[in-house]
Amino acid sequence: MTKHSSPGHKPQTSYPKLHLMAVAVCSAVMILALTLLPSPDATATKTVRLKPTSANVEPTPIEQAQELVDEQLVEPQMETVIARNWQDQKVRSGDTLSHIFKRVGLGSRDVYEVMAGQGDVELLKKIHPGQTMRFDIEEQKLVALEYVMSRTDSLMIEQSENGYVAEMQIKEMVPFTSYAEGTIDSSLFLAAQKAGLSEGLTMELANIFGWDVDFVLDIREGDSFRVIYQEMHLDGEKVKDGEILAAQFTNQGNTFTAIRYETSDRGASYFTPQGESMRKAFLRSPISFARISSHFNLRRKHPVLHTIRAHKGTDYAASRGTPIKATGDGKVIFAGVKGGYGKVVILQHGQKYRSLYAHMNNYARGIRSGTRVKQGQTIGYVGSTGLATGPHLHYEFYVNGAVRNPVTVKLPHAEPIAKQDKEAFLTVAQQMVGQLSTYAAAMESEKVANLDQ
Ligand SMILES: [Zn+2]
Repeated sequence: MTKHSSPGHKPQTSYPKLHLMAVAVCSAVMILALTLLPSPDATATKTVRLKPTSANVEPTPIEQAQELVDEQLVEPQMETVIARNWQDQKVRSGDTLSHIFKRVGLGSRDVYEVMAGQGDVELLKKIHPGQTMRFDIEEQKLVALEYVMSRTDSLMIEQSENGYVAEMQIKEMVPFTSYAEGTIDSSLFLAAQKAGLSEGLTMELANIFGWDVDFVLDIREGDSFRVIYQEMHLDGEKVKDGEILAAQFTNQGNTFTAIRYETSDRGASYFTPQGESMRKAFLRSPISFARISSHFNLRRKHPVLHTIRAHKGTDYAASRGTPIKATGDGKVIFAGVKGGYGKVVILQHGQKYRSLYAHMNNYARGIRSGTRVKQGQTIGYVGSTGLATGPHLHYEFYVNGAVRNPVTVKLPHAEPIAKQDKEAFLTVAQQMVGQLSTYAAAMESEKVANLDQ
């Protein structure tokens, strides 16, 4: 796998001014970080947990809009707090609403009245084992019923003058910002685990940098990572992971930095601090996790013809019928049989790039000359048509009409940050890059302090 040294991948040391600015801004955070540092231990990996996400990062326009909406929604509800005398019932397997009502001393008439109520009472038909129903019964009369569907969602049913009224209550999770860093001894997975990252976040981290780093082949001892991520809390407890906000990965001396940015029209994506996409316009390989059986070699002895003949592509060994993915967005310019290639699909990607997929068993549905395809879309299936010793995919990649080695060719980035978002993005990116350094420095000084003791 190649390392790219485009301007998009300069290490963050190219921001001395910015760094100082960020340190000043984040000094309050740093104090908090230091006080919250976990107890000293000998491992190279640690996690810092910090407070509210939006304290340090400018909210996006969407978040600002959402906050306005939330305020309007939340305000009126604050007034109605009624002390309830709850008795809880766990839903058991095989339970019906009648069974549960019976257990708390209510009858079929109560079931009927509740089900005749206003609102989403139909949800009560979907109860399943493990869930909780809470009853407030005064003088043998059901006053309120809370059907707890999940940690965040419940249905509150209350008695009113006109029968029961059901209302959904959704608790909002609070995002907390956390920081973790680690140094790899053997695998990213182990180092991430040591640093307190969940499996999901580790996968996400690998996905973000997966365009630049092959986490199976490229990883070396001493590679390291820094991650600022969110944890979603409810009632003071972590419920699930949130998003990775910023991350850095140093692989064999090359440091890659990724910043998350979300816009209403384009959704969320990761960019370099300069605004280049972390994604590439092309997948490195058209088949996931396939073994390369024959490399690009312009002076190879052909296995079938036994003559010196250029091998203008990369062969991936895969069983017949394995899906073949378009490596980039493009247009089918050829889908048919072509000499030794057998059944072959050729894609044109803009003016500059072209990709070719040969020896297919068959084409995917709808793949014909003129069809537009998306990156990752299945365009056909592995076979051995044409001159092939067995089922495999022969993949070729062209830049400006010249054939190139698909494994080592420098791949262009996907769309960078949109022009209209660039200024706002750069501000966020500066803050996040600064925070990564600040947190790392806080960790470092903590380590030094421990040594001094
Ligand atoms: Zn080949």
